[in-house]
Amino acid sequence: MVVEIITVGTEILLGDIVNTNARYLARRIADYGFSCYRQTVVGDNPVRLKQAIGYAFESADLVIATGGLGPTDDDLTKEVAAAYFGIPLCFHLPSWERIQERFADRMMPIPESNRKQAFFPIGAQILENPNGTAPGALFGNGEKTIVVLPGPPSEMIPMFENTVAPFLDAKNSGVIVSRVLKTVGIGESALAELLKPIIDSQSNPTVATYASEGEITVRVTARAPDNQNAIQLIEETQQSIIWLLGDLYYGYDNQSLEERVVERFAARGWDLAVFESITGGALFAALSGVSGATRVLSRGWCFNAEERSRHWLSETKTVTGDGAQAFARAAKARAGTKIGIAVHMENPQQATIAVCFPDKEVIKIVRCLEPLVKARQRIVKQALNTLRLEG
Ligand code: ATP
Ligand code: MG
Repeated sequence: MVVEIITVGTEILLGDIVNTNARYLARRIADYGFSCYRQTVVGDNPVRLKQAIGYAFESADLVIATGGLGPTDDDLTKEVAAAYFGIPLCFHLPSWERIQERFADRMMPIPESNRKQAFFPIGAQILENPNGTAPGALFGNGEKTIVVLPGPPSEMIPMFENTVAPFLDAKNSGVIVSRVLKTVGIGESALAELLKPIIDSQSNPTVATYASEGEITVRVTARAPDNQNAIQLIEETQQSIIWLLGDLYYGYDNQSLEERVVERFAARGWDLAVFESITGGALFAALSGVSGATRVLSRGWCFNAEERSRHWLSETKTVTGDGAQAFARAAKARAGTKIGIAVHMENPQQATIAVCFPDKEVIKIVRCLEPLVKARQRIVKQALNTLRLEG
């Protein structure tokens, strides 16, 4: 079954509100294994809404529409959808009684305009709205079906779950499951180039790359009759991707780089001291959030003025030299740990990561052409990656 989403509201078109309904519905449609090839946003305009419905039904079997079920004249979704199918709207007494009760419960007089919300295409399945006045409706012509739901997410979501989800479940044709593979240390185009053999031959699972803060992810999406089969398909492709990427890959879904570092350090019985002069404690914070970090993360020093960090270094009598390497040695010496890391700016537009491992020292340079606050996340990722891979 092919499903399309139409969200109605001029507010969305103007950018006044974020279209969270489309996102919610898209995810839920995928959960049920249905294809959704298009989403449409249309303003509160009957001509364009009717066009959008016609366009959607050229390929879709089911259209889910949200918004425009309110009492005012510009709320037209139900009316336009009924006109599309040529089904007349009729006054539905049980719905009217429920709307009246809702107002009576709140001891509010009922505006005449709310009567409009009790009109439905004849024969429609009426979807109760426990959190608002506008009931939704499900109707169609046997071949094509439309569901109209109210716009406010607090009303739409429970109605979807109580009434539309069981409808989808009954038509269920499987599941769509995604897994996000995480990489670090490579740009999106270079990654796409590496994965080209897989991306070019993909069908199920599909493979796509995405850029997010300081790292590039690969989404692997499988369609299968059930979850177990989908995971199996994903894992086969995942193995091929890991084979192509090697150490650029570090985990999937909720797994984080800092978790990998803590795991590695714990396995080797290593502990760590951190010096930061440009990342405001972000490296320490990332590591300290991981469970098991107390055994691994010993101490951290955080400065934001060159002068003070120099003074701190000069107090560390056992260490000579300067720059990031000296700060890493000083952190290690002062904390008495096996490893010390420093993140420091030696030259403008260039962050230096220095790590003292038990038997070697590693230096990594990160070019930062953007302002430091923006580069921070990327520098921290690179520092974590150095701890994950080197030594
Ligand atoms: P009402 O009876 O409140 O008028 P309605 O069904 O007519 O409900 P709209 O008028 O389209 O719905 O939208 C009402 C409110 O619901 C919007 O102001 C907005 O806050 C929220 N809303 C509508 N559509 C969406 C959407 N697609 N995503 C997120 N929120 C939405
Ligand atoms: Mg409205």
